[in-house]
Amino acid sequence: MTTMTDLEAPEVRDVRRLAEDLDIRTKAFIDGEYVDAASGETFARINPATGIEITRVAACDTEDVDRAVSGARAAFESGVWRDAGPKKRKKVLLRLAALMDEHADELALLETLDMGKPIRDARRVDIPSAAECIAYYGEAIDKVYDEVAPTSESSVVMIRREPLGVVGAVVPWNFPTLMAAWKLGPALATGNSVILKPAEQSPLTAIRLAELGAEAGLPAGVLQVLPGFGETAGQALGRHMDVDMIAFTGSTEVGKYFLRYSGESNMKRLALECGGKSPFVVFPDCDDLDAAAAAAAWGVFYNQGEVCNAASRLVVHEDVKDALLERIVGVAERIRPGDPLDPKTRMGAIVDETQLDRVLGYIDAGKEEGATLHLGGSRVLEETGGYFVEPTIFDTVSNDMRIAREEIFGPVLSAITFTDEDEAIRIANDTVYGLAAAVWTSDVNRAHRAARAIRAGVVWVNTFDAGDISSPFGGFKQSGFGRDKSLHAMEKFTDRKAIWIQLK
Ligand code: NAD
Repeated sequence: MTTMTDLEAPEVRDVRRLAEDLDIRTKAFIDGEYVDAASGETFARINPATGIEITRVAACDTEDVDRAVSGARAAFESGVWRDAGPKKRKKVLLRLAALMDEHADELALLETLDMGKPIRDARRVDIPSAAECIAYYGEAIDKVYDEVAPTSESSVVMIRREPLGVVGAVVPWNFPTLMAAWKLGPALATGNSVILKPAEQSPLTAIRLAELGAEAGLPAGVLQVLPGFGETAGQALGRHMDVDMIAFTGSTEVGKYFLRYSGESNMKRLALECGGKSPFVVFPDCDDLDAAAAAAAWGVFYNQGEVCNAASRLVVHEDVKDALLERIVGVAERIRPGDPLDPKTRMGAIVDETQLDRVLGYIDAGKEEGATLHLGGSRVLEETGGYFVEPTIFDTVSNDMRIAREEIFGPVLSAITFTDEDEAIRIANDTVYGLAAAVWTSDVNRAHRAARAIRAGVVWVNTFDAGDISSPFGGFKQSGFGRDKSLHAMEKFTDRKAIWIQLK
């Protein structure tokens, strides 16, 4: 009998077979070993491309958080990692990065099965970038110096940077391994113990990473991984009296919860990487509308639009709007949602049914508020059981509509027109967010003016989403504070201590 699998292209069949052979780890990782949640509770992981359960995962709660924090604290105080010296920590982190590269196929598959992104992206972008990030901080840590203050000759004042202690890393589901790596790299390199809480929608790679960390030589307790829900495990970490810092990436709403948890507990340090509503500003003197269109389309449709800095607001001069939209549609029509396990697929499934309903709800809101649906707008491939939405473009959007103000986190672009530079900047800044922005112009003076005037943590000129681990990333305004990536990311995981020595 001929089965579906037999009809598939060999490369898809190969990936599917690899996926079937995966030995998926599902437990929490505490003090060097896999353990069940204290309650014995588990939760289902559903493959968003099929709607079928992949496995069940330990649902950690307060008791598990207490246990993980106490182990992480013991490891920190023992000095086994903190005092190991930069060279030793470097060696372990480089080994971890190498192991991630070695297991890249497996990690990429776990990522794709768990949250629906195309295997092509998981394999080419997420896992290599995460490994690169871990290696970057491993390589950096024996090259950063402390300071000596320029006091008088009668004293020596050393300004040391010291690790904070126990760091909770609470991360989202859109780039599960990469967001974890942005925290783990600098936090571990600087000598902290870390408790990683992955999102409940995408815990599988984090759980596997813990084991790779141990294999690389991270001492027991230095990296704990607690799968579980936000309101339970996440909140318990945020409120814990013995957690020194939370490095969070996620929504602005939950970022604000962490501010409250901190204020109501031990005033723990916070770094909050939150939401965005990035303006993609195209001036009439843009001399390459094809390039702008490709960047705009990929800027909002990449990763199913589930990107914090997605170019969700196209702020375009009225004279070039039609020409630009025509080109964006041309690119968007080639980005069709498909099976994430097919190496040719460029757009995968929305992470879960809740997010699917949210995205479709915003599409309805756009229509109700009077925006013109220019492309797409529907759920597709429903017969697969998965949660797919086609690339969607709204025209005639005004910046006060919900689709222009709220983070959709789906493949939905809103086109808003302007008539002059001041208006463009005003629209770009008329948002509670300030994560990222792009400016397209051939006028170098305008490029500088606009880049300075837009309040965002990163402004791209004549490109979008260009990134390098050496370039800091993070938000202004309600997109949060603290920076991931680059050497600056290490600052937030350390405190400064002045040691004043009086000379005789
Ligand atoms: P989310 O805020 O719902 O969840 C993020 C994490 O917080 C998860 O681990 C979740 O379990 C936990 N959490 C949820 N509720 C909690 C609570 N009440 N107490 C404690 N922890 C809680 O975000 P998400 O849906 O997973 O991810 C999407 C969001 O992440 C978007 O807003 C996106 O913009 C943002 N994001 C930002 C960046 C950045 O670098 N600025 C990068 C990626 C994603």
